[in-house]
Amino acid sequence: MQPELGFMKNEEHNYTIPLAGLPFGHTDYQYVIDDNFFAEREYSEVKNGVVNLHLDVEKMETMFVLTLKFEGKVLLQCDRCGDDYEQKIGDSAEIYLKYGAEKGDEDEDVIIITKNDSEFDLSDLIYEYITLSLPIHRTHEKESQCNQEALEKLKGYQQSESDTMAANDNPVWKEMMKNLKDKLDN
Ligand SMILES: [Zn+2]
Repeated sequence: MQPELGFMKNEEHNYTIPLAGLPFGHTDYQYVIDDNFFAEREYSEVKNGVVNLHLDVEKMETMFVLTLKFEGKVLLQCDRCGDDYEQKIGDSAEIYLKYGAEKGDEDEDVIIITKNDSEFDLSDLIYEYITLSLPIHRTHEKESQCNQEALEKLKGYQQSESDTMAANDNPVWKEMMKNLKDKLDN
């Protein structure tokens, strides 16, 4: 377990910006987010993926402007058939790291930092933005790409459910239930 822990710490460290050490102006970072990143997050819906992330950090006197752009593919579970499928994702975001708390800075894209923060770990933010970019409806693009066997089984299950419902409405069945209930009551 020891070497694995060391590896995880390294991975985390990769997404840390050295605020104090950065020169003023723009600094570019390029990351490739892979399975390890998602594996570190126990409750992540995404277990596998490859996402290219470009980060531009603009350091100014009073704040840092972070521009995130990412694009990639993640594996998600299809809502229709239950198999994994490849989902293309991509988005961009601007985040402001500002020194000191000011009124009107409650904007969700503004994060307040202090002069004592010499670095900033971006990994949680990256994870958050990737999660936000996932579609609400998660299915194979076309139904023909779905696991047909699973779809058939699902259809069969739904059919037997509606059969049971129909049986409950059946007058013969209702009469039998009534008789049984009367017997039990007496
Ligand atoms: Zn599917």
